[in-house]
Formats: sequence, structure tokens, C-alpha cells
Amino acid sequence: MKKPTLLFLSLKMLKKGFSFILKIMLVLIGREILQRQQAEAKTRLLAQLEAQQRMNEFLSIASHDLKTPLTSIKGNIQLMVRRMKKSLNDTNGSKEMAQILLEARELLERTDQQLTRLTRIINTLLESARSKTNTLDLLLELCELDGLLHEVVQEQRHIPQTRVLNLNIPSGDPVLVMADTQRIKQVVHHYLSNAHKYSKIEHPIEIRLQSEGRAARVFVSDKGLGIPTHEQARIWEQFYRVPDIEVQNGTEIGLGLGLHICRKIIEQHRGQVGVYSTQGGGATFWFTLPLASQDLQMP
Ligand code: ADP
Repeated sequence: MKKPTLLFLSLKMLKKGFSFILKIMLVLIGREILQRQQAEAKTRLLAQLEAQQRMNEFLSIASHDLKTPLTSIKGNIQLMVRRMKKSLNDTNGSKEMAQILLEARELLERTDQQLTRLTRIINTLLESARSKTNTLDLLLELCELDGLLHEVVQEQRHIPQTRVLNLNIPSGDPVLVMADTQRIKQVVHHYLSNAHKYSKIEHPIEIRLQSEGRAARVFVSDKGLGIPTHEQARIWEQFYRVPDIEVQNGTEIGLGLGLHICRKIIEQHRGQVGVYSTQGGGATFWFTLPLASQDLQMP
């Protein structure tokens, strides 16, 4: 073999070897970068989880510590209102005294209403902290979903009588689910109170129950403002409220926690939640629950 050919071959091999080493180096560097990114992501996730855990602990402690004094303030106020009612019948004919007592009673009653509101907010915060860690206590029992919906409609205290509530339930056998009745009622109450809050009083609200294969689905529909498509996923997040939305009934502005808690309750029951809506075209909120299995339904 001639010398230049040998030289050419060795150069070629050198080049091949060099490109091989380069490839290995690139792979190693790539792997190093990936490992570093994975480690960073893991650290970030751990930090997030820790922060979330601390926040939940803080919320739980704060809510508990706020609730105890509130309960005793509320009790004392209610006691005072009762005493004043009694004293009003015993003012020895003094109109001035009666007037003072009447005004004081009104003030106390208004304070009591504000305390109820505050207690509700604290309860919501506490629930939210619990739902984050999936530690909502569930008391599961076999329950008739149709009966439960009837009860919710009858129990409505925050929706005025003038609002029409249409209950649409399939005829036939009861729809049985394994559920915590109080928690499911809480979800239906919340859907209903939102439907009332975000739609005009003259429009009826419809509550519908449907069995679909292995699940039961409950719908609550209103003819209110609706929710823009791009906001529909976010309304289930903690503290999220659709901007510039006008409350149609009641003055109570929420914290953006109610739907989040509803989702957690339903997910802990192995169900799903969702909404169908168009802006200006009303909203239909729904949830599903697995039907109680056939053998459970046997007498
Ligand atoms: P809030 O207590 O603040 O109402 P929710 O978690 O119940 O919180 O609801 C989150 C947001 O979803 C509300 O602030 C409102 O913007 C929107 N929303 C909920 N229900 C309806 C509804 N039926 N119609 C229109 N918007 C709704």
C-alpha cells in the first residue's frame, strides 16, 4: 500500500473516532442536563408540596382558633337578644326605654347575621384546607339520590319562595348510590345557590337526575349570565372567580372556594364534575356518582 493511501486511511479513522467521541460527549452532556433538570423539577415540586402543606396547616389552625371565640360571641349575642325580647314586655310603660331596647335588639340581630356570614367564610376556608389534602371525612351509606334531591329543594332557606325550582326526576326505581348524604346535599345546595346568585329571579332553575349506565348524573341549570368557554376550567380552582361577573341576587360575594370544594367532594366519591355553558346563555352544572352495585341493591 502506498504511503499517501495509508495516511488517508488513518486520517479517515481518526475523523471517525473523533466524531464517535463527540457523539458520546454530546449524549453524556445531554444526559447530564436532563438529570439536572429532573433534579431541579423534583426540588421545586417538593418545595411546592411543603409550602402547600404549611399553608393548609396554617389555614386549619387559623380557622379552628377563629371558630371557637366566634361560637361563644354568637351564643352570647343570641342570649342577649332573647333577654331583650323579654325585657321589652317589661318596661314599666317607659316608651323611651322600649325604644332603646328595640334599637339595641336590632343592632344585635344585625351583628348576629354578620357573625353567621363570618362563620360561613371560616368554615369554607377550613373545608378548603381539608379538601386539599383529601381528608374530608365521608360517612358513606346507601342513599336514594332522587329522595335526596327532593329534600334539598324542600330545605332551601337562602332562595326566596318567588324563585321557581323545577325538579325533574325519572319515574321508576329509586336511584341508589353509596354516598355521604350531607356532603352531596352540600354540593347540590352550592350549585343551586350559584344558579340563584348568577341568574335573574324570574327565571326558573332546573334540577335534573339521570341514570347513565353505571353512573347517576345530577344537573342544575340556570338561564343566567353563563360562563365564557375559556373560564370554564378555571372556576374549579381554589380562590378563582370569573372577573367582572355581576351577582344578580344577594350581595354576598364569595371567595371562589365553593366549586373547588364541590369538585373535591365528588372526586372523593369517585365521581366527576363539569359545566356546560355559553356566555349569556345560562349554565348547567353537573356531577356524576357511581351507582351502587347491583348486589347492594338487593333487599
Ligand atoms: P363563589 O363563592 O365566589 O361564587 P364558586 O367557587 O362557587 O365561588 O364559583 C366560582 C366562580 O364561578 C364564581 O365567582 C362565578 O364567577 C362563576 N360561577 C359559578 N356558578 C355560576 C353560574 N351558575 N353562572 C355563572 N357563573 C358562575
